[in-house]
Amino acid sequence: MTKKIIFQKARLFDGISEGLREDMSVCISDGKIGQVVKGRSSVPEGYDAIDLAGKCLLPGLIDTHVHATLIGEEALPLFLAAGVTSARDVGGALGAVLDLRSRIADGTLLGPRLFVCGPLLDGSTPSLGGPAFEPMLQAVPAPGAVPEIVGNLIAAGVDGIKLYFSLTPDIATEIIRFVDKRLPVTGHLGWTHSLEAIEAGIDGLEHVWISPYNEFCALDMQFGVGASMMDPTFWTKTLKGWEEADLNAGLATQWFDSMVEKQVHMGSTLDLLWTSRSGIDGAMKDPDRKLIPKVVRERQRAIAEQMGDRPDWDIHNWFFEASQGAGALEKHQEVTRLLHERGGIVVGGTDCGAIPFPPPGFSLLREIELLSDSMGAVGALKSVTSTAARYLRSEDEIGIIKEGNRADFLIVNGDPTSDVTDLRKLEDTYVGGVRHTQSELRALI
Ligand SMILES: [Zn+2]
Repeated sequence: MTKKIIFQKARLFDGISEGLREDMSVCISDGKIGQVVKGRSSVPEGYDAIDLAGKCLLPGLIDTHVHATLIGEEALPLFLAAGVTSARDVGGALGAVLDLRSRIADGTLLGPRLFVCGPLLDGSTPSLGGPAFEPMLQAVPAPGAVPEIVGNLIAAGVDGIKLYFSLTPDIATEIIRFVDKRLPVTGHLGWTHSLEAIEAGIDGLEHVWISPYNEFCALDMQFGVGASMMDPTFWTKTLKGWEEADLNAGLATQWFDSMVEKQVHMGSTLDLLWTSRSGIDGAMKDPDRKLIPKVVRERQRAIAEQMGDRPDWDIHNWFFEASQGAGALEKHQEVTRLLHERGGIVVGGTDCGAIPFPPPGFSLLREIELLSDSMGAVGALKSVTSTAARYLRSEDEIGIIKEGNRADFLIVNGDPTSDVTDLRKLEDTYVGGVRHTQSELRALI
C-alpha cells in the first residue's frame, strides 16, 4: 500500500496543456492520481500534505526507443534518476525482454515500466553482427512466414512490433497488413523505404537519420536493397547525404504530407549525433560519462581492442567520428521542426543501450534539449509525455497528470516548460505513488 498524499501549491505541467497551471493540488492514493484541482488548502482525511511551492510537478518521462537488454538490469535505476518512468524496448530477445518487463512490473527490479517489441524483425540477411546484437534479430525470410512468426509474438504478449533494416518491401508490408493495427508497428527501415511503409499503414518510424533518409537525400545518394549498416561507409555516406539534403525536394514534400495525413509517429533519436554538438572534448568532460553502465563499458572495451587505443574509447561510436555529423544533426532538427509545425507527430526516443553515450535516462534529457530547439520546450516535453503515451496506447495510464492515471511523476525544482535543462533539477521520481529521491537513486548507480 502506498501512502495517500496531497501535493499542494504545485506548478503543474500536466502533459497536455500549453504551459504551467499554477497553484494546483494533486492527490494520490493506491498508486494512482486522484483529484487534480486548482487551489485547495484543506487536507483530506487520511492524507499527508506536501507543500510544493515554487516547484514543478510533471508526468514521468517516456523514452520510446531503448534496448534494455543491452544496458544490464543493474543499470535500470539510471532511467528513474533521470526522470524516465516508462520506456519502450524496440529490440531484444523475446524471453529476455518479457522477463525484464514482468520483474519490473512486480517490483522485483527497480526500473522504468517497460513496453516491449521483442526481436528486431529482419530479412534473411542479418543487419547486425556480434554476440550482443545477434540474439536480438529474428529473420522473416518470406511473406508466407509472417503469420507464424508475428502471430507468436502477439500471442506472447508484446506491446508492439519492430521492423528492421534488411526487410524487403513485400515482407514489411505483409507484417503491417497481418498485424492490422492490433498493436503499433514501427520500423528502423532500410531496404524498405519509409513511403512504402507509410502507404502500407505503419504507425511509427525510428531514427530521423535512417528511416526517412532515402526520401530526403539526392537521388544519386539513395541506398536500397543490399545496403549494410555493418559497413562504416554506410554511416559517413548518409551523413553526407543529409548535409546536402534539400528538405523542399519533391520526395521530401511527399514524405511530410504522408506523415501528417497518416499521423505516423516519427521517433527522433537525435541524440545519436549529440557528440557532434558537444565535441569530443565536451563529451569526455561531461559528468554523465561516468554513468555509462558497466555492461556497455565492457562491450565498448571489446570494440576498443579492435579500434586501437583512444582516449574516448568508452564513448566512441565505432561507426562515425564525433567530429562528423553537425550539419546532418541540424537537418534532422529541421525535419522535426517542419513535421511538428505541419501537424505531424514527433516522439522522443534515444537508442540508449545501442550507443554508449549519452547514457540511459540521461540520453533522453539530451534528446529533449535537441527537440526543444526545434519544437519549443512544451512541444519537446509533450513528445516525451502525452504524445509518447498515446503512441503506446496508454494515455489512460501514463504521460498525463489526470485522475485515474498511475502516480508516475516528477518533482523538479525549476521550470522545464521554459527551460528544459531544468529537468536536471529533478528532486523526486514517483513511480506508482512510491517516492524515489535523487540521492537514493544516485546511490544505486
Ligand atoms: Zn535501436
